[in-house]
Amino acid sequence: MRRLRTSQELRDLVSETTINLNKLVMPVFVDETLKNPQEIRSMPGIYSYDPDSVDDYAEKLRNMGIRNVLVFGVPSAKDPMGTEAYNPEGVSQKAIRKFAEKGLVVMADLCMCEYTDHGHCGVLKEKTVHNDETIKLYGKIAVSQARAGAHVIAPSGMMDGQVKAIREALDSDGFSDTPIMAYSAKYASQMYGPFRDAAKSTPSFGDRKTYQMNPSNAREAIREMELDIIEGADIIMVKPALFYLDVLKEARNRFNLPISAYGVSGEYSMIKNAVDSGLLGEDAISEYIMSVFRAGADIFITYFAEYLAQKGQHRVRV
Ligand SMILES: [Zn+2]
Repeated sequence: MRRLRTSQELRDLVSETTINLNKLVMPVFVDETLKNPQEIRSMPGIYSYDPDSVDDYAEKLRNMGIRNVLVFGVPSAKDPMGTEAYNPEGVSQKAIRKFAEKGLVVMADLCMCEYTDHGHCGVLKEKTVHNDETIKLYGKIAVSQARAGAHVIAPSGMMDGQVKAIREALDSDGFSDTPIMAYSAKYASQMYGPFRDAAKSTPSFGDRKTYQMNPSNAREAIREMELDIIEGADIIMVKPALFYLDVLKEARNRFNLPISAYGVSGEYSMIKNAVDSGLLGEDAISEYIMSVFRAGADIFITYFAEYLAQKGQHRVRV
């Protein structure tokens, strides 16, 4: 086996997995309450952007060779119904428009937790999220995002029937060409901690375990993905990535749709802190990213996208 490992060139020649910038998506937080970009305390090197800085940031990403962004909006006003989520002039709609104008592929995260004052992903009825009332609003949000210029709608709320409701809403508003990237197998994970800092979306009571998946279940993830495919998903997703590589691999074996993986904030912060403090060598970052592609992802949403672009590592060696 060692014959093909004797030089970097030979190792590259027989390498089974390469990292390509075109396959990476940079998540972006745009926060209406900010006046300047602000580093997220728990995510070293990652910023939340004020609405006015979006143009410059979009340009920076383009110049780095990053093509794809996943946009999250944080509004200045929140209410129980999350009405800012479908305001045509809301924080995400405006940001979507700007990123699209700069020529980036804009994926719009679709959820309500950043927009509701209680921090849950939908409309409440007696302290629990009401599924069918919520997905009606998801349809409305999807249309507002598509009108703003989003190229891909990415529902992350884990409500039953959300993909179908969004597909129907998009189709009836003339957006039958707009694809849906469904957060299909999204687990109720501790790995989202740093994100909630940035999105200011920690639930004011309870947790999300009544809609997000139980980390102990892999077969259930396959059912979630099957349902989303039946409902019309164009891309399915596993989230988080790192602790769920088995789910990703199983999805790859079963489905022929494009599969995305979301390397969430906790994965980023864990690895970034370990590398910054010298506990791990820097190559841990590319080894991590490689593991996700090796497990079968076609698309990787990662906070390391900028890092990889900066290093000029269109093809990273492990
Ligand atoms: Zn949510």
